[in-house]
Amino acid sequence: MDRFLADDLADLPGLLQATRDEAVRVLAGLADRPVAAAPAVPAPAPLPERGVGTAGALEIFSERWAPGFSGSAGPRYLGFVTGGATPAALAGDWLTGTFDQNGSNRTGSSAGALEDETVGWLREMFGLTPAFGGAFVSGATQSNLVGLAIARQWLGEQRGVDVAEQGAAALGPVTVLSGSAHSSVVKALAVLGLGRGSLQPVPTLPGREAVDVRALEEALAAQDGRPVIVVANAGTVNTVDFDDLRAVAALRERYPFWLHVDAAFGGFAALSPAHAHLVDGLSDADSVCVDLHKWLNVPYDAAVQFTRRRDLQIAVFRNTAPYLGVPEDNPDFVHLTPENSRRLRALASWFTLTAYGREGHAEIVTRTTAAAHRLGDLLATLPGVRLLAPVRLNVVCFSVPDVPATVQAVADSGETFLTPTVYQGAPALRAAFSNWRTADTDVDRIFEALRRAV
Ligand SMILES: *Cc1c(COP(=O)(O)O)cnc(C)c1O
Repeated sequence: MDRFLADDLADLPGLLQATRDEAVRVLAGLADRPVAAAPAVPAPAPLPERGVGTAGALEIFSERWAPGFSGSAGPRYLGFVTGGATPAALAGDWLTGTFDQNGSNRTGSSAGALEDETVGWLREMFGLTPAFGGAFVSGATQSNLVGLAIARQWLGEQRGVDVAEQGAAALGPVTVLSGSAHSSVVKALAVLGLGRGSLQPVPTLPGREAVDVRALEEALAAQDGRPVIVVANAGTVNTVDFDDLRAVAALRERYPFWLHVDAAFGGFAALSPAHAHLVDGLSDADSVCVDLHKWLNVPYDAAVQFTRRRDLQIAVFRNTAPYLGVPEDNPDFVHLTPENSRRLRALASWFTLTAYGREGHAEIVTRTTAAAHRLGDLLATLPGVRLLAPVRLNVVCFSVPDVPATVQAVADSGETFLTPTVYQGAPALRAAFSNWRTADTDVDRIFEALRRAV
């Protein structure tokens, strides 16, 4: 054994303790770390020929790299939709690496059953019926990809084509209808061989990002009975708008389509009694995407995909090899998602759901939603600032006189971080709340930083 490996093995408890101490130091300073500085990147180092051991690596990392890492896990990072990691989720993540289970199969380990249990809890939390099966994937992009891959297989079933065997070309032209599809949906269509061009945007309601259900019906009627894919949105990134899922699903009585719902973060509305109506009808979907490294506050990377047609899912993702069994009632995860070998992503979610329960996570959702509303109210009082939509859930979308200058000034302040966007053709800013740590005092600091930057 290499000398450094042998030394590290002998001193494993001490090294884990040192790593823990470093993590404690980092987390203690998280609230005061510049939220998103533009750090000087260290000069590249050559491939280490001879190692330095874990203690040496920890020292070099802490000196060379850690200072430039963002405070995105902290309470005032409002860019994109960014969650942190609850204490329990972090503990679960550490133990994921510790046990290092291969979640691809169920051989000789109960890890797969833990994933089943966690998926079942999430299904219940989002109000889905037991008819939905699911699996962990790396993010909502991958979850949308899996849902749309199953949709593609369903389209084939309608047309008498086995896409998994014959390829996407055998399908002929495909139409995907959506009001305000997330960019990851477009990416998935490119990956799946359906083409970015298969997406046909459907008009949204006036001044809204929610689909106009009448326009959707017209688009469906124009298909002359040809089955299509509809992507409904439960929480758009700009203004957190929700399609009327019940009304969209009801159209299936007259038109053949697969209904995929992108509920990446909007799905968490189910946890807030005041907002749960926004996801009414989610259970009518054929496939559903929910991100977990956003509002569940587990570390990157984790999301869950659900579908009611596991048979089609297996047809797509089945991995055939002499040493792998035939997929059965409770198939190995290797047959459900693009990965073969995979980490036990479910463990961090299992920890945080066990530690805080539905109630604890509902509290995160209601508190961060209240924070968005409060910031919205405060911003509305600032000259030059205009809210571009009512605060529906956890995002404030607003305009300022000079978006790039404000983005830069805010980032330079180190107090908070917002991402720019384009909303209805005009540059705008978004402040997205989803971190479990965010308190009222953070909203005050965020508002003060924005007041100075506008
Ligand atoms: C964030 C997001 C995605 C993509 O999620 P990743 O975790 O970045 O892969 C897809 N759809 C919606 C609505 C999102 O908010």
